[in-house]
Amino acid sequence: MHPEPILQHDFSLRDLNTFGIDARASHYVRISATAQLAAVLANPALAGLPRLVLGGGSNLLLTGNFDGLVLHMASSGRAVVGETGEHVLVRAQAGENWHGFVEWTLAQGLGGLENLALIPGTVGAAPIQNIGAYGLETKDVFHSLTVFDPATGALATFDGAACRFAYRDSVFKHEAGRGLVIVDVTFALPRMWRPNLRYAELANEVAAMGTAEPTARQVADAVIAIRRRKLPDPAVIGNAGSFFKNPVVGAAQCAALLEKFPNLVHHRQDDGTEKLAAGWLIDQCGWKGKSLGAAGVYPKQALVLVNNGGATGADVRRLAEAIQADVRERYGVLLEPEPVFI
Ligand SMILES: Cc1cc2nc3c(=O)[nH]c(=O)nc-3n(C[C@H](O)[C@H](O)[C@H](O)COP(=O)(O)OP(=O)(O)OC[C@H]3O[C@@H](n4cnc5c(N)ncnc54)[C@H](O)[C@@H]3O)c2cc1C
Repeated sequence: MHPEPILQHDFSLRDLNTFGIDARASHYVRISATAQLAAVLANPALAGLPRLVLGGGSNLLLTGNFDGLVLHMASSGRAVVGETGEHVLVRAQAGENWHGFVEWTLAQGLGGLENLALIPGTVGAAPIQNIGAYGLETKDVFHSLTVFDPATGALATFDGAACRFAYRDSVFKHEAGRGLVIVDVTFALPRMWRPNLRYAELANEVAAMGTAEPTARQVADAVIAIRRRKLPDPAVIGNAGSFFKNPVVGAAQCAALLEKFPNLVHHRQDDGTEKLAAGWLIDQCGWKGKSLGAAGVYPKQALVLVNNGGATGADVRRLAEAIQADVRERYGVLLEPEPVFI
């Protein structure tokens, strides 16, 4: 039996979002077991409120106080749950810290998640935007997940196809999946592990370690070293990682842009479209290191917006909109925010 979850009112979310924005929730419950979800949502006074499922708060922007129910996913547990011919299946509860889970898999001698080391947040949020880094996305190592449907109180299993993974996207960001609560996620990790060093920066980092045949642990260490150099630690400077998705444009639009801007950074995709580097576009518009009120653009990485101290969600939004307007005017490209605006 799990203890009855405690409902709290006028609850500060400042320590529960990596931007460190001081917004409050009118209703807040910490969920430490799936059974508690059903219990909370069976309460008619709570069931009708607007809902925010909160993990580590590392991919959202609180633009104001939240007048509704925050379900803070804090369930824990991880285990090897099975094997197939080529894979070992590992499962973690939604509230597990993502990086802690990656470290745990490595400690079990299982490679496969190392390229995603040190991404903040929880396991339950990883499929939401199909988290990705250094040439690997959640979908590449995904097996299945369990959702709780607040509308019916039922649990259901989704495989990869049902999740409709795409670049920083999944069914959970669209009408068909919005509102579902992910309660656990299962990953299929390869028995025969090989390093994924397609991403040049990672390959160079590993090469600099002097190991011709790196272990998964060594690849994770390389990823961690690069991330520590490049990204601000949210415990020190509030941020939500990359604030904009890299825009994808058609080949013709890219060619036209290249005529005007020969140095444009672009990467051809398998389907012939071109992915532009949002950070480069922002940098070229002169925003790197600039601030608007208490919100700023990180001096070392133009893709990251930061809270310089005391910023509100509205400050960050104003900065984001100013950047979007400049990039659109200069390049005709719309930058889409990566974090969810609440
Ligand atoms: C420094 C830094 C670096 C980052 N680097 C990367 C990176 O390299 N790649 C990358 O992809 N992302 C990156 N991110 C973004 C972020 O870490 C990921 O998106 C992460 O998965 C968010 O997890 P979270 O638990 O904090 O989610 P939250 O911010 O709490 O929530 C994000 C969204 O998911 C929903 N959600 C959360 N948990 C659940 C659940 N159990 N069920 C249903 N919905 C849920 C929320 O309602 C919200 O809509 C970075 C962020 C920071 C701060």
